[in-house]
Amino acid sequence: MGSPMRVVIVKPSKYTVGGDVERFRWGLMPNSTVPYVRSMTPSELDGTQLDIHSIDEYVHTDLNYMSLFRQARSGRTLVALAGVQSHQFHRALDLAAYAHNHGCMVVIGGPHVMTCDTSMLQGNGISFALSEAELVWPQILQDAADGQLQPVYGQDQRWQEELQAPVIIPPTRRDLVCYFEPLMGLYPARGCPFICNFCSVIKIAGRRVRSQSIDTTMASLRAAKAAGVRLIIFTSDNFNKYPEAETLLEAMVDEQLNLEFFVQCDTQIAKQEPLVAKLAKAGCYQMFVGAESFNRQTLIDAKKRQNCPDTYRDIVRLCNEYGIGSHFSNIIGFPGDTELEVHEHLETLRELGPTWSSFYILCPIPGTEQYDDFLADGLITEKNLDRFDTTCLTWRHPHFSRVRLSELLYDCYRQFNSWSHALQNVKDRGLRHKKKLAKSVGSLGMSMFIRYCAWRRTHPMSGGVMRVRRDGVKDYISLRRQAFGLELAPLPQSLPVPPAESRQNGGISPTTRPGE
Ligand code: SF4
Repeated sequence: MGSPMRVVIVKPSKYTVGGDVERFRWGLMPNSTVPYVRSMTPSELDGTQLDIHSIDEYVHTDLNYMSLFRQARSGRTLVALAGVQSHQFHRALDLAAYAHNHGCMVVIGGPHVMTCDTSMLQGNGISFALSEAELVWPQILQDAADGQLQPVYGQDQRWQEELQAPVIIPPTRRDLVCYFEPLMGLYPARGCPFICNFCSVIKIAGRRVRSQSIDTTMASLRAAKAAGVRLIIFTSDNFNKYPEAETLLEAMVDEQLNLEFFVQCDTQIAKQEPLVAKLAKAGCYQMFVGAESFNRQTLIDAKKRQNCPDTYRDIVRLCNEYGIGSHFSNIIGFPGDTELEVHEHLETLRELGPTWSSFYILCPIPGTEQYDDFLADGLITEKNLDRFDTTCLTWRHPHFSRVRLSELLYDCYRQFNSWSHALQNVKDRGLRHKKKLAKSVGSLGMSMFIRYCAWRRTHPMSGGVMRVRRDGVKDYISLRRQAFGLELAPLPQSLPVPPAESRQNGGISPTTRPGE
């Protein structure tokens, strides 16, 4: 047996406006990519023992894990920076430079490097993985065990034709206490049939919905429950477009799993009452729906024509009827939005009364069709990728300044989460629910938390509760300069989808409009 190899799988955090690494005492949302990559990692590879560590930086409030990079023994540590989005890319580069400086082999993967051209950063000793982990991770591990990574992996194919996902090894009890509740993320399916121009999902996972086997999902759920997980976050984008959704829900009921779970659905769930009933029976406690706007023309312009605002009321009604919390996602700052539009949107939303609402500022996310359009039109004003996180204006809007749109964002949170709405939630979520007291307290606590965040002007959905300051960009910037010869990564061009993906999408290019 060869000497052991250490494998450190890290979800990088991001830098805040003040330059701190974003860290929380308790996380609100689990990271799903790290457990997937960890679960695809064997404990032994051709006689080499693997010593595996999983890190979600958002909830690591001490820096002890950095010692895993420092103790690299002449190329026997592999650091995988997983699930990196554009606003986390600088943090990933800094961790990569730090680990590489200490003798680690390093690979960066995730949405940013899958969809954006990073060739100007390649060839500096850091590897880049441009596809779903399932396609390249075994090769990366093998190369690392042999002592040498390739500069780039997965440039010819972004995603698997058939999803061969692993059964998830659940988080340890020590990891679970880092979150507000013991929770875990799970992807029963990937991909989305729609073509919203601001969204990167179809560039990352394709337009054909691919699902893993029910057996795999059920085995992951059983393992999670046995490990003490109490809440499952199904991170698949449109649970109601997942062909085996009903079969999975029935299996969960038959096995009496009694695990509460969160799902994301598109607005067409309004016409799927039998599915809503099954979701409720299987333990769904919250449904997140991409409403985005009440203006039909705005939705059409954003290529989200599948959304018909006159059906939104049915979603709230169905969720109320079946005891599921409805959670609407709202985007402010679409190109045609004015201040009056935002106020009217808020009024309509308050009148509709979903249980929860999240608000985001329209952001041209690198790799998306909208980003390409805005870049070509010279509209993008923000140069720092850290800011492309949907909490601030990054482009020249015809009607809003950055400051004004930011004020409106927090006004929306404050006004939607009024005391009367909070009390209504207590009534709806608590009194009608079996776990009355816990649900009432939880619901009230969440409303207070959101109002507090709005008052502090921090985004409530940024990932956790109680920020902890430990380190910041100033501690790493010289490393970034040394390793990559820059302080800010240039705004990238989007990468074209490889031909294999276009075939897999049934020959439909992600830029084709439905019905055209
Ligand atoms: S429906 Fe949702 S996941 Fe699908 S493209 Fe639109 S925003 Fe993205």
